[in-house]
Amino acid sequence: MNLSVDFAPRPDLRPTVRISLAELHAEARLRFGDDPLNWATVCPSCGDIATVREWESTSDPYAVGAVCIGRYLPGRGCTRSAAGPWQVVMPAAEGARAHSHWCFALAGEPTPNGPVAQVLGLAALASSAENRN
Ligand SMILES: [Zn+2]
Repeated sequence: MNLSVDFAPRPDLRPTVRISLAELHAEARLRFGDDPLNWATVCPSCGDIATVREWESTSDPYAVGAVCIGRYLPGRGCTRSAAGPWQVVMPAAEGARAHSHWCFALAGEPTPNGPVAQVLGLAALASSAENRN
């Protein structure tokens, strides 16, 4: 059995992004706007980009970000399930402890000074570059 996981070379597609659910939502709003139907994830195996709106037409819209949309739309994407690259920490709620889920990364680049850039240390690099100018 092959247990290796392949990750793309982009820094935000490495398994180093551990953010809260609130940070994920904040980053998604910065990248795609306030309408969650326009938010999109990228499959780290095949690169397919799927929006929440596209997931609404599948038989399991709650699987968004957890598997490649190719599992539900034949001829598109692949069948990968998420083993990352992002780890989203869910808040504790009604007797349940805080826990985390591995999920696909949001599509697009980290927003400058946004939550993902801060996790990756990109925000600090950008601000120090600005300070040198
Ligand atoms: Zn895929």
